[in-house]
Amino acid sequence: MNSMRPIRNISELERAGLIDADQAISLEAVTERYAVALTPTVARLIDRTDPADPIARQFLPDMAELAVTPEERADPIGDHAHSPVEGIVHRYPDRVLLKAVHVCPVYCRFCFRREMVGPQGLGTLDGEALDAAFAYIRGHSEIWEVILTGGDPLVLSPRRLEEILRQLADIDHVKIVRFHTRVPVVDPLRIDAALIAALKASGKTIYVALHANHPRELTSEARAACARLVDAGIVLISQSVLLKGVNDDPDVLATLMKAFVETRVKPYYLHHPDLAPGTSHFRLTIAEGQAIVSALRGRISGLCQPTYILDIPGGHGKADIGKSSVREVSEGCYSISDYRGGEHVYPPDP
Ligand SMILES: *Cc1c(COP(=O)(O)O)cnc(C)c1O
Ligand code: SF4
Repeated sequence: MNSMRPIRNISELERAGLIDADQAISLEAVTERYAVALTPTVARLIDRTDPADPIARQFLPDMAELAVTPEERADPIGDHAHSPVEGIVHRYPDRVLLKAVHVCPVYCRFCFRREMVGPQGLGTLDGEALDAAFAYIRGHSEIWEVILTGGDPLVLSPRRLEEILRQLADIDHVKIVRFHTRVPVVDPLRIDAALIAALKASGKTIYVALHANHPRELTSEARAACARLVDAGIVLISQSVLLKGVNDDPDVLATLMKAFVETRVKPYYLHHPDLAPGTSHFRLTIAEGQAIVSALRGRISGLCQPTYILDIPGGHGKADIGKSSVREVSEGCYSISDYRGGEHVYPPDP
């Protein structure tokens, strides 16, 4: 039952006891469309006795993924419209995404790039494409930050990561290199001295945005992996997706955000789920999301507050959709709501 090897298909899921034989047959239709992978760490985290386990829900394929709703789209956040060269997405003037790989150690069932990642996805940039991507960054002096995402950039070997970072080292206007990854949580032992040395090879300021959605993901091994990164001088921030049946509960989110802060990971973004195909079973309404986020305000330290974000469909970028607590009631006069819902006039009456 205790699978020690990576799981990458239906028969391996069945062999690991994570699905039964009947499910294996019906789920074939899901896995033909969307990639499946679990690391041994994630497989061990799943509580097989709980049919609503929030870890299982994030990683085990589900028949609900076959239901595609009319508003869903293959490229929900409009990467394609802002891609000047292969592997680069340049939506905001001062920063670009560099998508060097479209492979992940785990495939999240709600993934916003699920049509681009996996063995049938966009693949890994070859040397020529990477050179073109670096030439683009070099040629645009307004690019202050390069964000390595994908896919999960930390699936690359330390040697390949170092090659990429050495290229960035030579570009003076790039000051910040950010990695978006799930690896410290889903494969914590991969965060070793060689990988950390590679991450630091550019001499730039390095940020790692860690993707985790449920407090149980922050095991002692995951926390130790984060500690190795922070102790090496890398700044850690969090990103989570607000997901029905995983973390759509102020208590669960509060525990998750506190676990990040305890791990020296500063909560950064809480994403409203994107309109990726076959993910409607994960989506709540924005009003439901706002109610959950408002409930965090009074409950936990300011250190623990993430920004609630929607990536506007069509490539229009991110918007802060946390409920605004300020409302102008007359010229220069505002009504401010407190975390309990009370309303206060600002400036107050003399
Ligand atoms: C999300 C995203 C970023 C990063 O946005 P931040 O608000 O800086 O975290 C940059 N470029 C693109 C294309 C993005 O989708
Ligand atoms: S790790 Fe990120 S890119 Fe990979 S499947 Fe999960 S959400 Fe998608």
